[in-house]
Amino acid sequence: WLLPLGALMAALIVAVVAWGLRRRLSPLGELKMAVARREFVVHYQPLIELATGRCIGAEALVRWRRPDGSMVRPDLFIPLAEDSGLVLPITDQVIAEVVREMRAALVSDRDLHIAINLSAQDIRSGRVLAVLAQALQGSGIAPQQIWLEATERGFMDADAARATINRARAAGHAVAIDDFGTGYSSLSYLQGFALDALKIDKSFIDTIGAETVTSSVTPHIIDMAQALGLQVVAEGVETQAQADYLRERGVQFAQGWLFAKALPAAEFLAFARSRQAKTQAGT
Ligand code: C2E
Ligand code: MG
Ligand code: MG
Ligand code: MG
Repeated sequence: WLLPLGALMAALIVAVVAWGLRRRLSPLGELKMAVARREFVVHYQPLIELATGRCIGAEALVRWRRPDGSMVRPDLFIPLAEDSGLVLPITDQVIAEVVREMRAALVSDRDLHIAINLSAQDIRSGRVLAVLAQALQGSGIAPQQIWLEATERGFMDADAARATINRARAAGHAVAIDDFGTGYSSLSYLQGFALDALKIDKSFIDTIGAETVTSSVTPHIIDMAQALGLQVVAEGVETQAQADYLRERGVQFAQGWLFAKALPAAEFLAFARSRQAKTQAGT
């Protein structure tokens, strides 16, 4: 009777090891699973018009909600998603979520906009524009209410980027360069693209009021962007002093913790409504 017992033990060990392996999938395996299970949620960081204090929309920021309820920040999985090609279906899920959660609000308020982040791969393939058109079809949302943004990594393949940007703008979307100043491209390189807006990276906003070498660069970025006819959005505004400086310099829009962090859909919509009411009462 020892033999069947040994076989049983061996089978048990195999089962336990297999279970352990399944639970410890590679990061890529886990991310694939997350895409298949649609585990991505979108939070919305309010975009503020500095001159009026109005909330004119939000940036859609993806989070991975794991089965145990924990939230994973995009910095921790977007790079892997980009390397593996999984970022394309993630973008699709973000678009679907934005339309599902924001449709009613966007249809009832034409002044509200949602900015969606595109990866370098989305820009290169251009396929995202068909996905977006399909998602907006029949939704009542105007293409003008959806803004698109990409970091300069998306502009490396210049011909593909130019084609995607031109198609996006022809469809009615505004296009912005994100995190400007953190990479290698210059404003003159960007002149080769028909862009609508430039988002100044938080690292430059942080220097406002500080006596550092980079702090002297920030006003030049603003001036040059304005000279190129680009709208300017400041990212990561945390203090009133920064907001005041940017408004005086003619920067149109800002986002940052001074106003609000990225919020779940319902909280964002409540925030936007309270801002509208306040600014109406104020004027
Ligand atoms: P980003 O597009 O530059 O987004 C701004 C990031 O700065 C967000 O981080 C936001 O929560 C954070 N932030 C905003 N205001 C403040 C502030 O006042 N102080 C500080 N310390 N941080 C602030 P988040 O949500 O972790 O996103 C990180 C990056 O992940 C984004 O940077 C974007 O590049 C990428 N990402 C987010 N969602 C998507 C997406 O749907 N698709 C793609 N391809 N990338 C995404
Ligand atoms: Mg962004
Ligand atoms: Mg940014
Ligand atoms: Mg940034």
